[in-house]
Amino acid sequence: MKDYITVIGAGLAGCEAAYQIAKENIKVKLYEMKPRKYSPAHSSKNMAEIVCSNSFKSNLHTNACGLLKEELRILDSLLIKVADESAVPAGQALAVDREMFSNKVTQYIKKMEYIEVINEEVGDNIHLNELIDDGIVIVATGPLTSDLLSKEIMELIGDNDLHFYDAAAPIVTKESIDMNIAFWGDRYNQERAKDEDVELWKNRVKGIEKSDYINLPMSKEEYENFWNALVNADVVELHKFEKREIFEGCMPVEVMAKRGIDTLRYGPLKPVGFTDPRTGYRPYALVQLRQDNTDGTIYNIVGFQTNLKFGEQKRVFSLIPGLENADFQKYGVMHRNTYINSTKLLDATYNFNKNKNLFFAGQITGVEGYVESISSGLVAGLNAVRKFKGDTEKNEFNESTMIGALAKYISTENERFQPMNANFGIIPALDEKIKDKRLRYEKLADRALKLIKNKV
Ligand SMILES: Cc1cc2nc3c(=O)[nH]c(=O)nc-3n(C[C@H](O)[C@H](O)[C@H](O)COP(=O)(O)OP(=O)(O)OC[C@H]3O[C@@H](n4cnc5c(N)ncnc54)[C@H](O)[C@@H]3O)c2cc1C
Repeated sequence: MKDYITVIGAGLAGCEAAYQIAKENIKVKLYEMKPRKYSPAHSSKNMAEIVCSNSFKSNLHTNACGLLKEELRILDSLLIKVADESAVPAGQALAVDREMFSNKVTQYIKKMEYIEVINEEVGDNIHLNELIDDGIVIVATGPLTSDLLSKEIMELIGDNDLHFYDAAAPIVTKESIDMNIAFWGDRYNQERAKDEDVELWKNRVKGIEKSDYINLPMSKEEYENFWNALVNADVVELHKFEKREIFEGCMPVEVMAKRGIDTLRYGPLKPVGFTDPRTGYRPYALVQLRQDNTDGTIYNIVGFQTNLKFGEQKRVFSLIPGLENADFQKYGVMHRNTYINSTKLLDATYNFNKNKNLFFAGQITGVEGYVESISSGLVAGLNAVRKFKGDTEKNEFNESTMIGALAKYISTENERFQPMNANFGIIPALDEKIKDKRLRYEKLADRALKLIKNKV
């Protein structure tokens, strides 16, 4: 076995992982292709470069990302410590001076005697299979992993399990959907059930006998009102390298809507095969929501991948009857993003199922966001240490912590896996029912922080 651990990519996840390993006095070879080669979004020669917004989101514990940061602080995350040291005024959020942040991380990493930085692109003169051969490796090359390495990863995991774009629809909590308007049912099954057995049909739409989808029926007026808002809403300006052909099967909902007022009614909002239990008739249009986690606490809006700005998503999608008070846990996105199908490939320590010497960390695992990438780097780093020391017991985090919930989400089977950010919808519910959202999140955060403190 090699007497060091290899980390590929000195971004947010890779630097965190390298730190967690080196502080255990284990040697790290940290490969970073900059400054020899840059991804289309990177431009600084420093490590842990912040490519877009300088915000690490809220610091409040009642915010999912705030809770995740607090957990990381308790667990001695280098990158969150540096983010705190580089903070600029941003109210309750943690925003950083991006130059100072990357500079400080680079200095910390360079000063650690157990870390050797090698400025090489893995996939060029040095290859992934050579590094894994008799050695422990963490791949943390991010959403813009170089083409050469992407090819090598694909050879290792299979073509179908590496994605280059994400097209995620917004996700809302189940409890925030108005079930007085919504009804359960699968297309045609729900209508058939009505013909065959009226009692069964009534039970099914009431949710007593659950089916896979929650359906939101719309009248003509409601649909036209929604359509008008959608086609006039503000969209995000894409980066140049993200502009691409739109595939018919994965078109932003607003682009499809602009093709004509009825296009959505023949596409994702097709009402055929449904009867609105409130009227006994087929609705004019119908939005479907599909379960998104095993606990059934969060649902995604089917076919609503979008480039609308986040505020616009809340405004426009809340016009859908039944979603007026929807609690959005994740907004829809469509961007360039290299990520693996972790649900099939990784366990909850970010360890590759088929070769336990290999770990993945960061955005490439399907966690989404700066802080989420750091958290996966920390978990992968701790587990690489464990593996290096020959300890067979996994260092897993309880799923009631944000760090553990994310790891569980990306490693749990899910046919329609899309990248995920920290949110309270992926954490198991409390034993007691608390209606007030703030209070509920406070209790969830208390429970999570207790679990983390007990672990350290
Ligand atoms: C354009 C864009 C904007 C984003 N904006 C935000 C945002 O505003 N807020 C947010 O929370 N998240 C954002 N993200 C998502 C994500 O949180 C960041 O990309 C984050 O930096 C991911 O961390 P990482 O460690 O996984 O990857 P990175 O930080 O990208 O680090 C990967 C490192 O690996 C190196 N590398 C790549 N290939 C190789 C190779 N073959 N050999 C050696 N080194 C290699 C890269 O040079 C890079 O330094 C954005 C992503 C993109 C692409």
